Amino acid sequence: MKQIYLDHASTTPVRPEVLEAMLPYFTEEFGNPSSIYSLGQTASDAITTARETLATTIGATATEIFFTSGGTEADNWAIKGFAHANAAKGKHLITSSIEHHAVLHACEALEREGFEVTYLPVDEHGLLRPEDLKAALRPDTILVSLMFANNEIGTIQPIGDLAAIAHEGGAVFHTDAVQAFCHEPIKVNELGIDLLSASAHKIYGPKGVGMLYVRTGVKLRNLLNGGQQERGKRATTENVPGIVGFAKAAALAAADATLEHDRQQTLRDHAIRRVLAEIPHAKLNGSWKNRLANNVNFSFEFIEGEGMLLQLAARGICVSSGSACTSGSLDPSHVLLAIGLPHEIAHGSLRLTIGRSTTLEEVDFAIDSLETTLENLRMMSPLYEDFQQGKVDSVIKQYAADGFPYTN
Ligand code: PLP
Repeated sequence: MKQIYLDHASTTPVRPEVLEAMLPYFTEEFGNPSSIYSLGQTASDAITTARETLATTIGATATEIFFTSGGTEADNWAIKGFAHANAAKGKHLITSSIEHHAVLHACEALEREGFEVTYLPVDEHGLLRPEDLKAALRPDTILVSLMFANNEIGTIQPIGDLAAIAHEGGAVFHTDAVQAFCHEPIKVNELGIDLLSASAHKIYGPKGVGMLYVRTGVKLRNLLNGGQQERGKRATTENVPGIVGFAKAAALAAADATLEHDRQQTLRDHAIRRVLAEIPHAKLNGSWKNRLANNVNFSFEFIEGEGMLLQLAARGICVSSGSACTSGSLDPSHVLLAIGLPHEIAHGSLRLTIGRSTTLEEVDFAIDSLETTLENLRMMSPLYEDFQQGKVDSVIKQYAADGFPYTN
């Protein structure tokens, strides 16, 4: 059966050109970049070039780029490394309630050590309110960490405004840009970003490699101690093929960034319009306007997310759900709860994320399959029967009555 992959926010396939660029560094160019002989120097030069390429994509200088094992390590390093190096200046941090667990759990680890963390709320679209950040800043606030774009609902934050407010309050500004890097234009100096996390496997590069941008002058404590790699800041022999692949993926993305962004956005909007027109009891989650070009996230009433995913998987459609059952917890996603969704519709949510290879036919097939799947599931749902008999009310109908846009 043909697989229709619509889960590009989860991970992406490595592009053939990326693989080709990486291959020599597994075999003939296998040297350790720390070695003085030419085999080592070739590897070291490849890292230097990759660092320059990645720095250019965000308007940074090469000395500000540090390679990591992925977005999770970059987030942990930015947050814990900064807090530990700057605790003498204050022990208060600010983040948001919709961050990835790499940020949330790093903050929680700091709380267990005696740091204080404020978790900013978001509005019903998942947008942060700049005035909330202003109000949360304190004299002892050292770091503000707010994500560029959300991995579940795709909401893009006003990062430049938020960074400016953090700086006015004397804090350093970190952004988890794992979902936005190479998808949205990002220039660290224009936006006032001091620390930025990115990951290769979200941009058609390999898994297990990422980077942390650290503005010159920002001090971090090392997470990894050992050798002198990454200018003494991150020990461990460098993942040379991964780093080369990461830079190649970023360079390729830059080559047709606007074209691909707009193509995906057209497919996204087509999918959103079709769902809103054709599927009853549906609500778009997140903002339509401030949204990643590839993200579609809906809640469907009288539906349980796990059943929907299983039926779609049986038709070859790879998507994910905001119901966290699949990840071993029965709680719905913290992001969907943070935008105010009641549990019953947070459980029936679906994320579909478009990628470079996605076609209009694939999107249409997925929406057709979704329609059939939801009809089948609702036919079996006692709650839906109760609704049809007028015994229970529709939550989504209430959203519509309250003037919430993008519901059906
Ligand atoms: N931050 C965000 C917003 C993400 O979406 C992800 C991955 O899904 C991560 C961090 C973690 O990145 P990695 O898988 O490279 O550790």
